[in-house]
Amino acid sequence: MSQETKCVETVADFFGCDVFNDDVMKARLPKGVYKTVVRTKTLGVPLDPDVADVVANAMKDWAIEKGATHFTHWFQPMTGITAEKHDSFISPTTNGSVILEFSGKELVKGEPDASSFPSGGLRATFEARGYTAWDPTSNCFVKDGSLYIPTAFCSYTGEVLDKKTPLLRSMEVVNEQALRILRLFGNTKATRVTTTVGPEQEYFLVDKKLYDQREDLIMTGRTLFGAKAPKGQELEDHYFGNIKQRVSDFMKDLDKELWKLGVFAKTKHNEVAPAQHELAPVFTTSNIAADQNQLTMEIMKKIALKHGLVCLLHEKPYAGVNGSGKHNNWSISSNDGQNLLDPGATPMENLQFLTFLCAIIKGVHEYSDLLRISAASAGNDHRLGANEAPPAIISMFVGDELQAVLDAIESGTTMKSEDVEFVIGVDALPNFKKDATDRNRTSPFAFTGNKFEFRMLGSADSISCTNVMLNTIVAEELSQFADVLEPAKENGNFEEELHKLFVKTIKEHKQVIFNGNGYSDEWVEEAVNVRKLPNYVSTVDCLPHYTDDKNVKMFEKFKVYTKTEIEARQEILLENYSKVINIEALTMVDMVNKQILPASMSYTKEVCDMVASKKAIGLEGGVEEELAKKLACLTSSLDAQVKDLECKLCDASNHEETIYTYARYYRDEVFANMQSLRAVADELETIVAEKSWPFPTYSKLLFNI
Ligand code: ADP
Ligand code: MG
Repeated sequence: MSQETKCVETVADFFGCDVFNDDVMKARLPKGVYKTVVRTKTLGVPLDPDVADVVANAMKDWAIEKGATHFTHWFQPMTGITAEKHDSFISPTTNGSVILEFSGKELVKGEPDASSFPSGGLRATFEARGYTAWDPTSNCFVKDGSLYIPTAFCSYTGEVLDKKTPLLRSMEVVNEQALRILRLFGNTKATRVTTTVGPEQEYFLVDKKLYDQREDLIMTGRTLFGAKAPKGQELEDHYFGNIKQRVSDFMKDLDKELWKLGVFAKTKHNEVAPAQHELAPVFTTSNIAADQNQLTMEIMKKIALKHGLVCLLHEKPYAGVNGSGKHNNWSISSNDGQNLLDPGATPMENLQFLTFLCAIIKGVHEYSDLLRISAASAGNDHRLGANEAPPAIISMFVGDELQAVLDAIESGTTMKSEDVEFVIGVDALPNFKKDATDRNRTSPFAFTGNKFEFRMLGSADSISCTNVMLNTIVAEELSQFADVLEPAKENGNFEEELHKLFVKTIKEHKQVIFNGNGYSDEWVEEAVNVRKLPNYVSTVDCLPHYTDDKNVKMFEKFKVYTKTEIEARQEILLENYSKVINIEALTMVDMVNKQILPASMSYTKEVCDMVASKKAIGLEGGVEEELAKKLACLTSSLDAQVKDLECKLCDASNHEETIYTYARYYRDEVFANMQSLRAVADELETIVAEKSWPFPTYSKLLFNI
């Protein structure tokens, strides 16, 4: 059955049925036009206006058949979520009726008013307007009656205002530099190198009725109060456990919606914490993976509501149980069918693999600050270093087998594996098991056989920033390597120079490799004191390094960002941090003043009344009196704490010298105060009768699905 007909039962039939994909294009476009579009998609050659008109018209007809009335340029501003503005296809005619139109111009370029998106000061100096430009490498699709056109978003003077443009730029620079390396190894066939990503997405589900009773969940996506439930994740009975019917129904619906939109949803399972789950897609080209991950997050929320649930993407919805991350599985492949991070079967392939590996080792060591920054947010600060996620220190895991190879190269000895001796570059390397049993889950950046898994990202993050960093860093190192190796190739001493480069790189950068337990305190100690690796604990600690000279130099060298653009991003992220903490603090104040204090006071009164009635008949105050005293004491300390927090918030405006000092104040003062306020409220929760507590407890939230 063709893709064109209505969705039917089997997945193969309806997969991608709402996507203007290659099959649809082939069927609907004249041959010549189709070929031009394919060239645009694979090689990035711009479409000329005539061709764009034909494509737009075919897209419109197809979309209308799918029930669409509107089109929208879909983009990814710095808010981290997607944005869209819908225009209908209608165009009035002279006789008062309408015709449906969609031109090539409208497909290729849009002009949303950019003035209300975060720009980090870019618009203070430039025009407020921005434009969106079609990214033809990512397919258009129909959703909720609109044709969605994936686009990049720039200001009129060309500054990037979004998360997609730099990603596309960074993919381009890896392509250029990796091709230089491939040529050195005699590869003349490959014409394009792309980075691939498979982002595993974690999330929580909570009953909508309970969610609606919690102002904190509604306003901030996480619980700002909540005493631990008697049971957490200690029995380890949730991970990969049986999926409850209600959750399973949600997952089925979710898969179906995602498949219709061409998202490669593949794996689903329960995660470690109660009510926590994961969805992993099949990997694809980085920019498409980024688009699909944004769609996945959006559809998760939408489908959850249909099932009377709310999907929480916050990194730490509940204290005391694991938070949610997003694992960015990343690799590089060439269009002659090679995964460049796969060691390969022949000695030459191994050398090529080791070149890429060394570039990555050097890059991760030299630019660890950028990787850390790519996972920085107020929400993710709760996870990193909290024994559930890697510490804020960037290191990489290569595993014992690969470590032995690196050791042998460095020391100039042969390598022994299962009693066989290997000479690197002469013999083929032993096969690296993809699912090695010693897989290290505590490393922020782990080699997993033919790809790296960056495990630091927060569940709500866009994956774009991480991949911009990874791609640009690796391009930088590959370009340095190629600069040394190209002349060597000319002079006939390529292998000798290559070997020298390996030894030098391993010697100088091996301290970033750590194969042990990344969750242990000893590692933090060793990393910081012995290996001198940076440990930027919070978002506010790491963000200032975005504009370090070396980082600006690299981004400008490859035209991924200008200095102004990096400063803008830094500013947006710091400002966002302060805003998030401010909203959380205000929500806490509101909940304490309007809910928790009144509840504790009336419960205290209830208990005092009991004491009074006991005493009236000559009995001792007893447990009631003890309880009343404890309640009164905690209630007054809650009152004192909340007043402190209110003062802190009032005083914030005195710390606005720079965006950094302001964020620092929110971290060191406001956030610290929120923690102590919470501690008192949570203690109160444990002694106030459940019927008197003003909102659902952790037991209900976590176990009532
Ligand atoms: P685990 O949870 O065991 O780490 P999953 O199966 O949940 O593994 O996720 C692994 C992810 O890695 C999947 O999204 C998969 O598509 C992705 N992946 C596999 N190969 C590559 C590759 N070459 N490039 C990028 N991602 C990859
Ligand atoms: Mg997984």
